[in-house]
Amino acid sequence: MADRKNKIITIVAPSGAGKTSVTNHLLQSFPDQLAFSISCATRKPRNYEKDNVDYYFISVNEFEKKIDNEEFIEWEMVYEGKYYGTLKSEVERIWQQNKSPLLDIDVKGGINVQQLYPYNSLSLFIEPPSIDELERRLKARGTETEASLMARINKASYELSFKQQFDHIILNDDLQRACTEARDIVAKFLFSDK
Ligand code: 5GP
Repeated sequence: MADRKNKIITIVAPSGAGKTSVTNHLLQSFPDQLAFSISCATRKPRNYEKDNVDYYFISVNEFEKKIDNEEFIEWEMVYEGKYYGTLKSEVERIWQQNKSPLLDIDVKGGINVQQLYPYNSLSLFIEPPSIDELERRLKARGTETEASLMARINKASYELSFKQQFDHIILNDDLQRACTEARDIVAKFLFSDK
């Protein structure tokens, strides 16, 4: 059996591109091989989100202490005043279960993780069909204010310009097809001896 101890998978996409759906599909497809890496975040939980499941929701103060203590493998202020970061202890916890962490992080974080683990990481960029479609999906989701919607749309255009830096680009014009494509790529990576 391939040693999963050091493998790490990142899924990167602009907000609203379908990243969560693809992530959940992968977690369900490989329950014995993958575990979701729970990030720390300083934004408020959405009403369907659970602390310690979707994120470790912490205060800005606590987050900054963790930065000072070098507890993160990567962190970013993804939106104005909102920190997000991947804890070293989280990745270690998952490796100790002999599973591979699946990171749902932003583009800069994804690039940082690839640089940290150039030989044992796999990165997938989920591309939305268009910015207009992205805006439509975000509005339909109904989780954003007008200002945070605009922030996400602006950031999405910027993030799209980095897509070539990732191992695979998966166009999400059809969620079912995008999920299957992601699953095939991840299976190859997980079950190879690389
Ligand atoms: P949301 O607020 O929609 O949950 O996430 C906003 C963005 O932050 C998404 O692109 C998400 O992938 C990213 N993100 C979540 N956790 C982390 C993390 O630990 N590090 C980085 N760099 N980005 C993260």
